[in-house]
Amino acid sequence: MAKRIANVIVDSPIREPLDYLVPADIEIQVGQRCLVPLGTRKVVGIVVGFSEESRFSKLREVISRVDDIAPLSFGWLALTSFAARYYQSGWGQVAIPALPKFFRKLPGKLHERSLERLRKEKKRAVKEPSEKPHLNSEQSAIVEEFQMDGAFYPALIFGITGSGKTEVYLHLMEKVLLSDPAAQVLLMVPEINLTPQLVERVQSRFPQLEVVSWNSGMAEGQKASSWLACHEGRARILVGTRLSVFASFKSLKLILVDEEHDPSFKSQEGVRYNARDLALKRASIERIPIVLGSATPSLESYKNALEGKFKLFKLTQRANSNAHLPELSLVDIRKDKPVNGLSQETADAITETINSGRQVIVFLNRRGFAPVVECKNCGWQSTCPHCSTYAVFHKTTGRLTCHYCGWSTPLPKTCPKCGSYELLPIGRGTQRAEEELETRWPEARVSRLDQDSARQRGSASKVLDAVHNGDVDILIGTQIVAKGHDFKNVGLVVVLNTDPRLFSSDYRARERLFSVLMQVSGRAGRDKTEGKVLIQTRYTEDDIFKHLKSQDYEGFAAGELEARRASFMVPFSAQALLVAEGKEISSVLAFLQKLKALAEKIKGPSVRIFEPVPLTVQKVMDIERGQLLIEADNKVEMQKFLNRFQPEALSLKAKGSWYIDVDPLNY
Ligand code: ADP
Ligand code: ZN
Ligand code: ZN
Repeated sequence: MAKRIANVIVDSPIREPLDYLVPADIEIQVGQRCLVPLGTRKVVGIVVGFSEESRFSKLREVISRVDDIAPLSFGWLALTSFAARYYQSGWGQVAIPALPKFFRKLPGKLHERSLERLRKEKKRAVKEPSEKPHLNSEQSAIVEEFQMDGAFYPALIFGITGSGKTEVYLHLMEKVLLSDPAAQVLLMVPEINLTPQLVERVQSRFPQLEVVSWNSGMAEGQKASSWLACHEGRARILVGTRLSVFASFKSLKLILVDEEHDPSFKSQEGVRYNARDLALKRASIERIPIVLGSATPSLESYKNALEGKFKLFKLTQRANSNAHLPELSLVDIRKDKPVNGLSQETADAITETINSGRQVIVFLNRRGFAPVVECKNCGWQSTCPHCSTYAVFHKTTGRLTCHYCGWSTPLPKTCPKCGSYELLPIGRGTQRAEEELETRWPEARVSRLDQDSARQRGSASKVLDAVHNGDVDILIGTQIVAKGHDFKNVGLVVVLNTDPRLFSSDYRARERLFSVLMQVSGRAGRDKTEGKVLIQTRYTEDDIFKHLKSQDYEGFAAGELEARRASFMVPFSAQALLVAEGKEISSVLAFLQKLKALAEKIKGPSVRIFEPVPLTVQKVMDIERGQLLIEADNKVEMQKFLNRFQPEALSLKAKGSWYIDVDPLNY
């Protein structure tokens, strides 16, 4: 009789599924989780197929099936398998970590009872359903034209801030959810603390449906319960961050990716996947529509839309007829010299705004008090002993802290080198700006929102609620303040110190800067009151400001795309980055030279290999890092190359660890 052999994926770099014999008394299907021996351990794996023969002679046996929850779908297996191949890692390395801990750990004695508990997890309290506004003509055109007839249908909604994109999402969801009592919708959002507000907005629109969320900040139990509710079809809507692209659904019918340009959709550790791109892949596997939405689409998506690969929808007006687009002006800080960071014109505008009872947002994309402390006597500077970076002074804790590795030490009283007392904080972060604002406007209620103040769970929501309730006059913060908040009473947005980003060596820096400035400007004038934006800069002639002033994303994008076309940059080419790490930069670079030699041997004419160089931040946590950039004419050519290169590179005998970052975002 033929042996029954299960092909099982486990969390390891091994490319091929492992073969295990299935004992006659174990019933198991493709997509179910099982317990298998691996080396001396027992681990949870997923059955991805069966065969009658194996290349290996001595097979071990499947120990048991983990539980009887429904198998993971073929669509889910296809997605994780694709992601593994595309990002050059093991299938199990993608699939297993994509499950919440509860479903990948060895089942305990009370596993079945825990499952029952997860199924009964308390639902959120639902408030009085919310009002559904009448869509304007641009909005309703999208909802009417949108196709949902069982085919892959990628669409990009390019809509200025406040144009009612979220409202369109809600209508599209309604269309899908009402047409099919089992239909499920996935709404993906960037990795920030916005999820609670959005989940509430969604839940109050669909009070009778189960809405769940999935993000990295949640407790494990919650994650497991959300996951199971989607898997078993009870939850009809999932609002989640990048990991949710790997959620399991019983009947997924629509995917929405809000702020699709946001870099947080790209994972920067482990398997470096881009959840926006995988969402597109998933929609194509499941043959369903997908909507990408943004006020400043990524150039990749915008190009796809211009070329007709995505259906392009535009929202050109603010949805709320009372709302105005903010008026944007530049403050030339060569003429109007800042005092404590603020030019006279800026300070006057702040005073005026507060006096008229409206709120001010000050945007400064740098946290801490001062980015570096310097000795006036000998020139000593606060650096991190483990990284090639400065240690940032945090006044709230009185410490110097490295933002790369977390190393931290109390601020010395005297210079560690010469003993002088003259230690000066140089530059300005949000903490310092907060202090200066409080000193200058002692009557005003000032709040700060950045990664430090948001660290405790719920504290970001508290600050945001305070702003919404009018309990804050001036909000100072980093990028977090720019994201999608629907503040009703912001009269002025002030932008400080973005000049360094105009000249970054990263070719995406201008795209990012434009996007974040559009986002933060979009917080002003969202209801009734006129909004104003002031940007302090020394480079008033820069093109980026010309387009910002007229809210002209399309003009900006056209210029950037042309520049990238001319220099064969992404999206007119594809990139992959080989990053190597080690104790000495010389040996790291020598290893990368070996990889380069191998790559040169394998590559065809459509692939170009650059010189190995140290990373911009060369050392982190005492590990030296170097990179080798590879460029191909397009993604298909890149994949062909990597599929040949990777196995050979893995068999190179050389020191040091390394990884591949396909479609890298930062370097
Ligand atoms: P976006 O997601 O594009 O920033 P939102 O969907 O959050 O925009 O809409 C911005 C504001 O306008 C919200 O307060 C929303 O309730 C309101 N709004 C959206 N669509 C309409 C509409 N058709 N009529 C009136 N108000 C609307
Ligand atoms: Zn000194
Ligand atoms: Zn460090």
